[in-house]
Amino acid sequence: MTDVDVAIVGGGPAGSAAAYAAADRGADAVVYEKGVPRADRERLGPDSTDAAGFLDYWLEIADIDFADIPEDVVEQELVDAEFIGPDEEVVVDRTGIDADYDHFGFTFHRAKFDDWLRDRADAAGADYVAGTAVKDVDSDLSNGHEHTLHLGDGETVTAEYLVLADGPQRQVTMRVLDDFLPAEKAVSNLLNPRSANHIAYQEYRRFPDELFDADSMKFWWGWMPGETAYPWVFPNRNNVARVGLTMPIGLDVDDYDASEWRLLREDDDRIPAGTEYIRRLLEELYGDEYDVETDFPLVDGHGKSKSTETYAISSTRPIESPTDAGIAVVGGAMGTTSAFHEGGDHVAHRTGKLAGGLAAEGRLENYNDAWHDAIGDEIKRNVAMADVVGDYGPADWDKTIRVTRQMLEASDNGKIISKSNARSAAGGLKLYSQYRRAKFRYRKGKYAQLRESDYTV
Ligand SMILES: Cc1cc2nc3c(=O)[nH]c(=O)nc-3n(C[C@H](O)[C@H](O)[C@H](O)COP(=O)(O)OP(=O)(O)OC[C@H]3O[C@@H](n4cnc5c(N)ncnc54)[C@H](O)[C@@H]3O)c2cc1C
Repeated sequence: MTDVDVAIVGGGPAGSAAAYAAADRGADAVVYEKGVPRADRERLGPDSTDAAGFLDYWLEIADIDFADIPEDVVEQELVDAEFIGPDEEVVVDRTGIDADYDHFGFTFHRAKFDDWLRDRADAAGADYVAGTAVKDVDSDLSNGHEHTLHLGDGETVTAEYLVLADGPQRQVTMRVLDDFLPAEKAVSNLLNPRSANHIAYQEYRRFPDELFDADSMKFWWGWMPGETAYPWVFPNRNNVARVGLTMPIGLDVDDYDASEWRLLREDDDRIPAGTEYIRRLLEELYGDEYDVETDFPLVDGHGKSKSTETYAISSTRPIESPTDAGIAVVGGAMGTTSAFHEGGDHVAHRTGKLAGGLAAEGRLENYNDAWHDAIGDEIKRNVAMADVVGDYGPADWDKTIRVTRQMLEASDNGKIISKSNARSAAGGLKLYSQYRRAKFRYRKGKYAQLRESDYTV
């Protein structure tokens, strides 16, 4: 007899969704969230660092009804996204994927979003414990499965099912899963946070009226070096925007020709820190007419502290879970976040919901099939696109942005990437077939880095 039916490590979107689904189906569920202080939240809660943008069709993937999201969670409903290369630009006003939500997407307040998910789990009867870290887990598979969680406060708790939702740092996930894997397949190698993640940094700045664009998310591709490295601006309320960036960890500036990258300088002796990159971006865009520090001030009460925040983003391919051991890995911990655009709340929420619900029903063995069905197409699109653009330099980004613009102009079928659209852009068919080939390589779930059969359970 265990203390609880389902224990969940980590209380972000994946963990809260798991707790909600488990409790909603009548299971005893507890979430342990180590608790991260934030300037924009009074109580201790999950990390919640996020640019917090959602595309229209992500609601279906997340299995969230927009009408259920409290009004104060949503910051701006979006019309489009702008992709800006060194010399080319494209405005994308559709995702090309069927969706019920009738805007392009929306931005949201991530701490409030997480609080909503947490309160929903709580209302369903789950126990959300904030401020208690899970230090380690012992799994006993001698008679079914029983997991003993060792908590930061010295207590232990036993659970029949374990959901690992500790996000991209994966400290508990790596320790638990490596016990069931041969050394060459260790998760601590495959999904090592230093190689499988990007680092992300963002600032909350108030924009002058005439420059604040509430309708659009903006991304600058080909401005800074590194695979899928880019800065962004996401609009919030009251002229406040999140100005952020993501880049691989451990880049060496000597590997790049500074004259090619708009945000590098010839005398850089290392890759600039996030704060310096953001300053350079704003200077490049507005420095001729504005004083960046005074005209785009950091705003109090946002982000983790001092209106800034840093956190890792999982930027890899997902793994399956050892469900025979009564364990499911979900969200950022399992590597679902897109390596292409770093969006991951939708897949985190959905995988958490599936895992919690199936554990509560005693059917966790269906979890791997269920998540492939629910999010497989999204993962395949994103890992394929990440492969195509992996080695891109500034000129490649310009070319792709130009091709995309021409494809969109020619599109009469609502889609972005289709063969007929590709035919109407110079270089379109080449890009289209690279993408199709990459997708083909990942057919039948081959985007998963680790299969259930790899575990020695
Ligand atoms: C700067 C940035 C911008 C992003 N932009 C977007 C975006 O626009 N759209 C989008 O969809 N996604 C975005 N993402 C990705 C998105 O934030 C993640 O995909 C999502 O947070 C994953 O949810 P999760 O619940 O799996 O993990 P997390 O949200 O990381 O939650 C994991 C939780 O586990 C807790 N934890 C860790 N270890 C322990 C432990 N040992 N014991 C107890 N608790 C523990 C952590 O404190 C954390 O709260 C962004 C990420 C970053 C960093």
